This record gives sequence, structure tokens and C-alpha cells, in this order.
Amino acid sequence: MKTLLHGGTAVSGTGMQKLDILIENEKIVQMQPHISAADAQAVDCTGKLLFPGFIDGHTHFDLEVCGTITADTFASGSRAALRGGTTMVVDFAAPDKGDTLAYGLSRWREKAAGAACDYGFHMTVDDWNEGISQELGEMLEQGISSFKMYMTYPAMMLPEGDMFQTLLRLKELGGIAGVHCENSGLIDALTARARKAGRMGPASHPQVRPAPLEAEAVGHLLRMAQVAEVPVIIVHLSARESLEEVRAARRRGQTVYVETCPHYLLLEDSVYSNPDFLEAAKYVCAPPIRKKEDQEALWEALANGEIQTVATDHCSFTLAQKRAGRYDFTKIPGGLPGVEHRGQLLYTCGVAAGRISEAQMCRVLCENPAKLYGCWPRKGTLAPGSDGDVVVWDPAAEGMITVRDQAQQADYTPYEGMRTKGGADRVYLRGTLAVDHGQVLETAGVFVPRGKCAL
Ligand code: MN
Repeated sequence: MKTLLHGGTAVSGTGMQKLDILIENEKIVQMQPHISAADAQAVDCTGKLLFPGFIDGHTHFDLEVCGTITADTFASGSRAALRGGTTMVVDFAAPDKGDTLAYGLSRWREKAAGAACDYGFHMTVDDWNEGISQELGEMLEQGISSFKMYMTYPAMMLPEGDMFQTLLRLKELGGIAGVHCENSGLIDALTARARKAGRMGPASHPQVRPAPLEAEAVGHLLRMAQVAEVPVIIVHLSARESLEEVRAARRRGQTVYVETCPHYLLLEDSVYSNPDFLEAAKYVCAPPIRKKEDQEALWEALANGEIQTVATDHCSFTLAQKRAGRYDFTKIPGGLPGVEHRGQLLYTCGVAAGRISEAQMCRVLCENPAKLYGCWPRKGTLAPGSDGDVVVWDPAAEGMITVRDQAQQADYTPYEGMRTKGGADRVYLRGTLAVDHGQVLETAGVFVPRGKCAL
């Protein structure tokens, strides 16, 4: 099967060029200003941008949180991802404490069997012993090259000595760690004070997780990484003060990669003061939504290249599930739906608003995550030999984000009513048409084994 995308403008991390793209079977085989291929199915892409399939390096599908399970499975979440131009996700396999990593991986491979887009897994390290140390090497051999550690959440966090041991072991193996940075002890203390004062509504959520407690943990991690002499990834960085810690480490010569999410770029913490419980609970996630000044600092850092990637941290719950925290904000399952709208949000508020270029959008959604997570150049670029993952993007499309038109399984969207510019006309997954003007077709995702970080 051959497909010829002709007349479009191909976007890369360095610029744009009018190029035809010929896909044969699952791979891009040719890119030239003019290709004639009479035996190919020709698709007119005049006036359209051609992006590499977007990669979302941070999703949680089919995950248990707070005694409930996310609204999106791999089947529904991956279809929503495709609808927005995301052809690959990297989800988090999370063994329970005491489980082997191999068991955790086998569970996630089962969960992901119904995925419609391609996928990989980060492996969560929530325990440290000889067995885990051994297994880290086996994970690398199986194409799991990135690992997650938590500095908060008692069920998952590692003591700092164990985190340090893990960083040293990953250095030996060539793996990389992404870390959730928030100071757990102080969050617990502030939560106890809120409880004592009877302030148990969603408005307390950002108050017990203030920005300095993220920045403190970022600094803490970066000092550990300095001594271990390893690069690290700060996942879902949300605060201006955390960026200051990253800058300080970079000035010391350290390699630090930063991920942020659309909700930190676009929303403000006033969402938590809505007197309607569910309206506020919708936005509960950790780290919490920050202030206008944080948003501005993140956009600036995105534009000047200090932030390498934008992922969603998609972790969707229904309003009925959010209601579990009606009388206690700590029982609100944390997380936002977002996997479907990342490209549109970044194009609308980034490219169309003049904050970043198309090439920068390509870097943070495609090239950088592919390099960071070791699947470049199979993914993240339009080039002969790469997978035929292509987003045919209509820069002139206008629309509105609404729960009435989304594939992701939450019964709300944090961006309800937002007017959008640009959108995916068609999405190809390894040469197969996966989305046609909003309609998601039948595709089967595959596991993508990944190698070492190349960013
Ligand atoms: Mn997460």
C-alpha cells in the first residue's frame, strides 16, 4: 500500500519546506519537492502543514488512583490521542511496592493490548533492593529506557538514599529518570493544618501544595543528580521558581530536561476558588494549577528552549469520580483529561498567538520527546526510513473545544468553550489512515522498544 501526500508543507524542528511525502507500507520512503507515483493513493495537502505524529511522553491510562480507576483505558485514551494528532504515547507502568518490575511490565503490556496508537512505557521505581537493581538492566534490554520516581505520594515515593542509588544504577545502564518533584513532608504538614482548621474544600488543594515546595524538591533532586553526575528529567514542571532551580543547575554544567503540560501553560489557580465543588474539583491535579506569573514564565521558557517537551499527564476521571472528595479535598482523584487536545492548544495559544513557531511546536511535541525517550529517528521526524506517522494539519481550521465533541472518556474538559485555531484533518499511523476529519478509524498500535536518550 502506497500513499502520496502532495502539495503540503513539511514541518521539522528547524523549519518548513514544501515537500511531497511517499509512504509505502509502514514507512516514509521518499520526500521530495515533487514526487510522481501513479500506483499510490494521492492525497492533496495543498495549504496544509505536515507534522510528524505527535508523541505524548506522559499519560496514565487504566490506572488505579484513590481507590478508583481512570476513565480512559488504553483503547479509549489512544483513540482520543490519535484524534488530536498524537500517534504515540509513553505511559507509566507502575508495579505495586513489593512487586517485581517484570510483573509490573507484564500487567501494563496486557492493559495496552487494545491501544489504537503506538506506545511505550516508563517504568516506575518505587522500591530499591538487589532484585530491582538487577531488573533495571533487564528493562533496558526490553526497550524500557526511562524510569519514574516520586518525591511525594507515600505509596510510591522512594527515600532519598534509594533515589540516589537508583540514579547511580541508571547511570551505569544508560537509562534516564523522570521525577515528580514536590516536598511530601511539608505538604502533609500543611494538609494537617487545613484539616484542623476545617478547610477541606478544593480551595485548600493549591494552598497545601504551593510552588516553593515544588521548587525545593526540584533543587533537592538536582543536587542529588549533581553528585551522581547524571542527567534527569523534571516532569510536569509548573512553577516559575522551579525554573530558577533548573537554571542554577544548568549554570553548574548539569544536563536537565524539562517537561511541562498544557494546563500549566493555560490555566490559573483561581479555578480552585469556584464555590461549586465539582467546578473546582475538575481541576485538582498535582502539582496544582499555578498563577498567571507562572504561566508567563513557562511560555517564555518554552519559547527560548529552556523547556524541552510538552506532555499532557493525561489522567482522566468523571465528575462522579471527582465527587468522592466532596467533604475532603485529599480524596479527590487527581488528574486532568488532555491527551486529545494538546496539539490544538499548543497551536492555538502558541503558534497562532505568535509565542512559538511551527518548528518549535514540532520540537516540543515530536523531535524532543523522540530523542529524549530514545525512539528517534523511527518516531518524531518526517524522513525516509521513519515510521509513516503524519499529521495533516489545517492551519486555517477554526473550532471550539467542548465535552460534546471529544473522544476521551471524561465527562468534561478543562478547556470547555475555548476557541481553537488549527486542527488535524487526517492522521496517519505507520501509513494507515487513523483519523479522517475527526472520525477515528480502526488501527492497531504496537509497542515501540526504546533505546538511550539522544537529546
Ligand atoms: Mn503523571
